[in-house]
Amino acid sequence: MQQLKVYKFGGASVRDDVSLRQVASIIRSAATSPLVVVLSAMGKTTNALEKITDKVFVKEDPLPDIDHLYAYHLSICRNVFPPEHTVFRELDSHFSSLRSACITKQHLGYNALYDSLVSFGEKFSTCILHHFLLSNGIENNLLDSTELVKTDECFRAANVDWILTRVVIRKAINPSAPGIWVVQGFIGSSLTGQTITLGREGSDYSAAIYASALDAREVTIWKDVPGVLNADPAESTATVKFDRMPYQEALELAFYGAKVIHPKTIKPLENKNIELLVKPFSDPLAPGTLISSDPELYPQACSAIWKREQILFTLRPRDLSFISEAHVHGIMGALALLGIHQNLMQSSALHFSFCCDYRTDIVKEITEALGEAYHILHNQGLSLLTLRHFSEEDIQLHAASSALLMQQMSRVTYQALMKEMH
Ligand code: ASP
Repeated sequence: MQQLKVYKFGGASVRDDVSLRQVASIIRSAATSPLVVVLSAMGKTTNALEKITDKVFVKEDPLPDIDHLYAYHLSICRNVFPPEHTVFRELDSHFSSLRSACITKQHLGYNALYDSLVSFGEKFSTCILHHFLLSNGIENNLLDSTELVKTDECFRAANVDWILTRVVIRKAINPSAPGIWVVQGFIGSSLTGQTITLGREGSDYSAAIYASALDAREVTIWKDVPGVLNADPAESTATVKFDRMPYQEALELAFYGAKVIHPKTIKPLENKNIELLVKPFSDPLAPGTLISSDPELYPQACSAIWKREQILFTLRPRDLSFISEAHVHGIMGALALLGIHQNLMQSSALHFSFCCDYRTDIVKEITEALGEAYHILHNQGLSLLTLRHFSEEDIQLHAASSALLMQQMSRVTYQALMKEMH
């Protein structure tokens, strides 16, 4: 018996009946080894559930949006199941639970409400995939990640209790027995049983959690791109696919904002030396990208990553003192308290500058926290470019025509903050 593998399919891979058939065919061809299938919500379901949450929170009627989401799932089911199939009853029951949760959970704070409603997307999708595989002769067990992934109550970005999660997952899944287990990505529950989510795009992280708990051989993330590319195809027409990448490089790319892998995914895999494959969903035999402990990045192409909607703050001490370690300590402390992450910072004799993701009220928050001690200027509508393994030509290519506000480079990383050109 081969060692267990984990496959993760994103929302785009289960957005309609055609993709659902492709998922089944990929799973069928892997069935020689024990397999955990981690699934996201179908298509844009999570976005739709976020909208529903907003409506419930401000006490608007969410029912038209729920009906719309129900119709979407129903139309997929109608294309792949006969009318009397049990999936229709189960889907109805999940949607009834969602409708009642909109009433019974209404009193919760926004983040707890968000997790209890947005988590339904993965329940719908796994219910459908489970039955679809069965109806295609692929035996599988549907498990509930809210019983298996145990976390704290940091809603929308919960922290995993690794020891407990490992015990619970291993009770439900025997990694050395043949079988296919279908589980929800993105969701889990706290020790008191509250449903949580792991953060947007968190199903990649779920795949790593299951792989780590079960000491899997490898994780494959099935994507709508050929593998890890050196740039977002939406930003650049000429992209290069990496064949091999060290864990550390993947971590760095995720940190700087590359969207291909959720940032928390790499560490649990690296800790156990579990290989991560990023493969194209539409071409399962293509090699994709292998992320492993192999230190070689191949090919040695420059990666370009854009973070949009940045805001730059420049602070000058009101008492005209030079910027010292004590100033930096105070500013960083204030940012930590506000939950603001700086993406780039720079200090000079009389000024300290940092940029971060824009959010509503950020200018007010920073001014309230630091305005007494500092004159504060800000520039909005900026983009942060990060180049890894750059050459002078790469800088010319990506950054030359833009209005630069700040730049920084180390031996392997170049960063530039500039006025939005798009
Ligand atoms: N469904 C969640 C999202 O869209 C989690 C995931 O897809 O990874 O963010």
